[in-house]
Amino acid sequence: MMGPMSLPTVAIGALGGTIASTSSATDGSEIVPTLSAERLAAAVPGLGELASVRAETLAQLPSPSLDEPTIVRTLAWAQAAVDAGAQGVVITQGTDTLEESSYLLDLFWDRPEPLVVTGAMRSPQAAGADGPANLLTAVRCVLEPDSRGRGVLVAFDDELHQARWVAKTDSMSTSAFRSAGFGPIGRCVEGEVVYGVPADRVPALSLSAGQEAGDPRVPLVATYLGDDGYVLEAIRAEDVDGVVIAGFGAGHVSARMAEAVGRLAGQVPVVFASRTGSGPTGRAMYGYPGSEIDLLARGAVGAGWLLPVKARLLLWAMALRGPVTRADVVREFEVRGRP
Ligand code: ASP
Repeated sequence: MMGPMSLPTVAIGALGGTIASTSSATDGSEIVPTLSAERLAAAVPGLGELASVRAETLAQLPSPSLDEPTIVRTLAWAQAAVDAGAQGVVITQGTDTLEESSYLLDLFWDRPEPLVVTGAMRSPQAAGADGPANLLTAVRCVLEPDSRGRGVLVAFDDELHQARWVAKTDSMSTSAFRSAGFGPIGRCVEGEVVYGVPADRVPALSLSAGQEAGDPRVPLVATYLGDDGYVLEAIRAEDVDGVVIAGFGAGHVSARMAEAVGRLAGQVPVVFASRTGSGPTGRAMYGYPGSEIDLLARGAVGAGWLLPVKARLLLWAMALRGPVTRADVVREFEVRGRP
């Protein structure tokens, strides 16, 4: 689909967040999401000369209140947009959960067209608002031919990150996003999008008709000094479709918590990840109760290089498609949990 004057069409779907938040108070406080996708696009200088924009407001939520079904519906909207001829899709949303929704989209995004997620740390009324610049970078990313076949990307602060590694690592800075060890993979400089690595991705998970309606429950449990497994013990296997643990270091828990891991892992998939924010779970280094070797022997599966929130979404996405065996979990985390 080509827009007016033969410009390529870019679909922009807005979900809310700071990028769309305004204040009615004189001091600019208490901002809430109010702006439509059209208003966001209209605020970007020069956008109309680059692309014909098809803007749609999909939600007006603060991103802590987004959920997986909303993101799965956003996925279907994005797929329909490229089926209708868009060169690619930009999703705007709050930054608080952007690292999660972008990864959930990535797990199911089965098209070569770019799907780029962005947001802002400063609201549109703030001095130096970063939303228009981030949105422009995201559109330029969609228009760059070398963006094809890379899965879902996150555009922020002139940088491009892969959804599977990116994380919000600062609560206030405009350069809040990092990909520990693996990014950014690209930058936008003087309007040009350049990549440091060739296009590559793990194939998307398939999702058949009807499956998208589900909403599995996969809690994430963080461990802490002195953890006796109290929180994990409270989880009943029949209430969940899987559990992810944000463990110490390379994926460790206390000896007492290890018993709770073993009990649950005998009934539902249990994945342990590292709470450190960088680096993989171990496989064969430590042998004490609660170590990676012990947790693997008890039936849990290591998340590899995936952050705990990403590991949780991979397990959620697998459970959305139907019952999951331990062998399924081992296979998917082996493929998707490594660079
Ligand atoms: N602070 C968030 C943001 O940057 C609020 C949210 O995630 O909706 O958008």
